[in-house]
Order: sequence, then structure tokens, then C-alpha cells
Amino acid sequence: MTTVHLPLEYDLKAGWLSPFVEGLTQGRAVARVCAACGRVSFPPLRTCTCGSAEGEWVILSGRATVITRTSGLDGDFALAQFDGADGLTTVALQSTATVAQSPLVLQASDPPRLVLGLEDTA
Ligand SMILES: [Zn+2]
Repeated sequence: MTTVHLPLEYDLKAGWLSPFVEGLTQGRAVARVCAACGRVSFPPLRTCTCGSAEGEWVILSGRATVITRTSGLDGDFALAQFDGADGLTTVALQSTATVAQSPLVLQASDPPRLVLGLEDTA
């Protein structure tokens, strides 16, 4: 029996989520505002809870309040409320040290994911 390892490269498009994903790579919180009811979803919803699929993209401040947090084998995670968003978001926390301090802000990560860390005020 022969084992062969094949490298596979994927080039997946983010589609309608492109503004959100690009925002994550740049450390920006890009949310979706529903054109019908004004609900601000972050992460963005394709179809709002009111049923409308029309909306616009807005950039939030990136500040968030940690509602609750947990630690796991893969790091620290939190349920956070981003300023200006109407829902809660699960995020990775950069380090334990940053959790006790505020404000918390969205930071860029690679691969793109939601990461909160201590705001750089320098
Ligand atoms: Zn709506």
C-alpha cells in the first residue's frame, strides 16, 4: 500500500459576506443594518429576523462588552455585545490579561475570526 499526500489549495469566495470578512482581516467590525427594521446584526445576517434581506453595511467602533467568558483548550472565549449591534457575538479573547481591562476592541487575526483585545491607546 502506498500513501500519497496531496496538497490542496482552496480559493473560497466570501460572497455576500465579503465586507464582513474583509473587515475581520483589517480589525474592523463590519455589521449589517436591516433596511426594514433597522436591526444591526453582527455577525451579519443575510435575512434579518424581521424577514427582510435588504440592508447596508456599517462599520462599528469595534468596542465590545464581555457578557460572559470561558476558558478552553484552544484559548479564552467570550460572549460579547459590540457597541451599536443588537445581538451578541462569540469571540476569541487575545489573552487572559486583557479581559480584566477595558475597553475591549476588535483586532485583526489570521485566519479571520473575531478576536477581542485591549485597545491600543498609544
Ligand atoms: Zn429587519
